[in-house]
Amino acid sequence: MAVYSKFAIIGAGISGIAAAKQLAKYQPLVFEATNSLGGVWRHCSYKSTKLQTPRCDFEFSDYPWPERDNSSFPSHLEILDYLYSYATFFDLLKLVRFNSKVVEIRFVGDPETTDVVGKTGEYGSLLPGQPVWEVAVQTNQSETVQWYSFEFLVICTGKYGDVPKIPVFPHNKGPEIFEGKVLHTLDYSKLDKDAATKLLEGKKVVVIGYKKSAIDLAVECAEANQVCLLMALEQRRAVSKFIESYLVRKLPLQKYGLKPDHPFEEDYASCQMAILPEFFFSEADKGKILFKRASKWWFWEGGIEFEDNTRLEADVVVLATGYDGKKKLKAIIPEPFGSLIEFPSGMMPLYRGTINPLIPNMAFVGYLESVSNLHTAELRCKWLARLVDDQFKLPSVETMLEQTTKEMEIMKRTTRFYKRHCISTYSINHSDEICEEMGWESWRKKSWLAEAFSPYNSQDYEEEK
Ligand SMILES: Cc1cc2nc3c(=O)[nH]c(=O)nc-3n(C[C@H](O)[C@H](O)[C@H](O)COP(=O)(O)OP(=O)(O)OC[C@H]3O[C@@H](n4cnc5c(N)ncnc54)[C@H](O)[C@@H]3O)c2cc1C
Repeated sequence: MAVYSKFAIIGAGISGIAAAKQLAKYQPLVFEATNSLGGVWRHCSYKSTKLQTPRCDFEFSDYPWPERDNSSFPSHLEILDYLYSYATFFDLLKLVRFNSKVVEIRFVGDPETTDVVGKTGEYGSLLPGQPVWEVAVQTNQSETVQWYSFEFLVICTGKYGDVPKIPVFPHNKGPEIFEGKVLHTLDYSKLDKDAATKLLEGKKVVVIGYKKSAIDLAVECAEANQVCLLMALEQRRAVSKFIESYLVRKLPLQKYGLKPDHPFEEDYASCQMAILPEFFFSEADKGKILFKRASKWWFWEGGIEFEDNTRLEADVVVLATGYDGKKKLKAIIPEPFGSLIEFPSGMMPLYRGTINPLIPNMAFVGYLESVSNLHTAELRCKWLARLVDDQFKLPSVETMLEQTTKEMEIMKRTTRFYKRHCISTYSINHSDEICEEMGWESWRKKSWLAEAFSPYNSQDYEEEK
């Protein structure tokens, strides 16, 4: 017999905890697959992983960081402490079921709502008073599952972590022929300090990737006293990652062949900038981090090989090739809804970054990126809580679809990397629209002077009394 409750939240990272706080009065059940809060900050971080957003921007609106004016970027452990402390302060831990992985979701609502082709009219009741979804939960990896039923689901399973993106290789040129060790950064994150050092020490290491996890790993590798080759996969993107540090620290991009050949704004608009770790260029200057650009590569027995048939010897190849967050979603969201998760463009059609107009009684938090994903998630959860409280109504399905299509077109015009669905350039406009829809003031500073001269941050979006 299924256990019944109004709300379930799936995932207890930053997004899931933000949702739990805003929906706390409904006593939602929060299912978390692992034994910890924090998601990526627990499971995709290494010793050197730090936040790239200033702490005063990555902050819940009603819970300041202990040293919010400290200009250093917090480590992943500090972020976890902050999140646990927030969850404890607002008594949210009692809502979380740890080691509880959602393995299947079934639709048990009105069968007419599964007829999604050409759907128009009202979105439908958010809390209809009867179950719309059934959820199978596997606890502690046991063989059996417990079924639950809910009126509304909030999906917060994260864009990163859990499912690694592994490159596809030509026949007989994949990791199976390599005599060394191949691992993804997700596996590297699981190693303790000693095991990580042992893996890298005295080895020829190649890190494949150009994003934050690749850059951090290259430095860890250099610090383990190794020469590490950082191999960027796509020329145009590879170099762009470094532009922020160039601006901040005027570093030698040209010297290392890292100068971007597309506008910096495109990276900002697609949330693709990375703050470089402190010793990145000093390790490069010592010759401990080498760079290579390559569009195609594969394995040979002793290492990796490039298009021009040149070969590189390696003992360890680390794939910093990212994650497949949509695969995670598609694994649990049933048809016909699973196919609606993304537009053919690859972006998720989410009204206010939260509701897919064609998927009933389900919200998504954490799939729209910005400069501060915590702020983006929290504001959308506040919007959601007021929506379910009937403080405002959703527009018609057609209007919501028009809006999501318009946003997609704007993203496409702004950056060629639009698939990441990042709103960094429009964050403030989105926040204004959300505030107006909730009936809040969108000009949120206490004075015109502050409005003109002080930047917006999470605290400006504190509850309106
Ligand atoms: C290396 C790295 C650096 C980053 N740096 C920044 C930064 O500086 N600034 C910034 O704003 N953002 C940054 N991000 C983005 C980061 O992902 C977000 O800030 C935020 O932490 C995401 O939280 P989330 O809750 O949406 O997802 P996650 O942290 O991924 O949490 C999802 C949770 O869902 C659980 N889960 C998944 N599937 C299931 C299931 N089927 N059943 C039950 N539970 C499930 C997972 O175990 C996990 O705990 C970074 C990400 C990475 C990987």
